[in-house]
Amino acid sequence: MPKAQETILEIDLKALKHNFEYLKSKTKNGTKILGVVKAFAYGNDANEIACYLQDLNIDYFAVAYVQEGISLRNAGVSKPILVLHPQAVNFKLLIKYCLEPNIYNAKILNDFIKIAEDENQENYPVHIKFNTGLNRLGFNENDIDDLVSKLKQTSSIKVTSIFSHLAASEDLNEKDFTLNQIQSFKNISENIIPKLGYKPLLHLCNTSGILNYPEAHFDMVRTGIGLYGFGNSEKENKHFKPIGILKTIISQIHIIEKGSSVGYNRAFKSDKQIKTATLPIGHADGIGRQYGNGKGFVIINGQKAPIIGNVCMDMVMVNITNIDCKEGDEVIVFDQKNTAEQLAETASTISYELITGISQRVKRVYLK
Ligand SMILES: *Cc1c(COP(=O)(O)O)cnc(C)c1O
Repeated sequence: MPKAQETILEIDLKALKHNFEYLKSKTKNGTKILGVVKAFAYGNDANEIACYLQDLNIDYFAVAYVQEGISLRNAGVSKPILVLHPQAVNFKLLIKYCLEPNIYNAKILNDFIKIAEDENQENYPVHIKFNTGLNRLGFNENDIDDLVSKLKQTSSIKVTSIFSHLAASEDLNEKDFTLNQIQSFKNISENIIPKLGYKPLLHLCNTSGILNYPEAHFDMVRTGIGLYGFGNSEKENKHFKPIGILKTIISQIHIIEKGSSVGYNRAFKSDKQIKTATLPIGHADGIGRQYGNGKGFVIINGQKAPIIGNVCMDMVMVNITNIDCKEGDEVIVFDQKNTAEQLAETASTISYELITGISQRVKRVYLK
């Protein structure tokens, strides 16, 4: 790969394949894999990634919103796509593009049945979500009788799957809580299946659930962050390869004299002579202000260069006092060794937030 000449996010598709195969090796033969490609596949590029995963014969996809699913269809994704948080205003479009809604409460159920009937649908695939402790979206167990009686009144929709979502699958201090969620999901499915009269797919686990709760894989597992190379623990990270490599270059080098300041609001004031590099990446690219003032750092010639002063919209300045480098040199923001997870930790956040925030302004380049 030639050196970066501007800010780019390289996407390593071989690493994606490695992560997919590792996750698959963690499930029993026959367990379906759903790839979560919401939010531009966590900031990477949903269309390219979904097409690649489709070629690897992944079973299912999920996005958060209808527009994301339409974009996948337009890119040639033909596998089923679950829409995790559909809005009733988009239901006609959802049907037009053969996207499958998460039905999580009575209102969304009624709204969807109405549109499905208007559109003359028969057995349109829907996914019923239950709340088992995250308290975000989902029916409760005591809604089952009303839910089933409503489902029996229409032939316009059919339940393809029943699912729930774990609240703390990566946190083994919350193991009892998670085991409770698993048990209540089992109870719910054992309660609803005889009433429905057929057995939909069951799925509960996200990436950390796959890794930490093999007994809870059911018929399908849903993975997002694992595909993109993070195992959410030191032990598991070793088995994954981050697929995104964010690079930039040095635009300009300055010698800052003792007593001078750097950047907006003079947030950094130098108590000695230092050398700084200005880089063409800022908060509009996804490196938020929380990384400024010495928290975050980049890697130049293998050495750490901390961000000094406030992060600007289009630029950051970093301290390169002891680093041998020149204008035009490549800079690593994160890669497979200095990971996005480590950089995220400097600002007390998680890999998910950093990588999903890399804005669409940053050019994506694929390593095939
Ligand atoms: C985002 C999401 C996932 C993916 O979680 P990861 O931790 O990234 O594997 C799975 N299921 C649901 C319902 C989600 O919203």
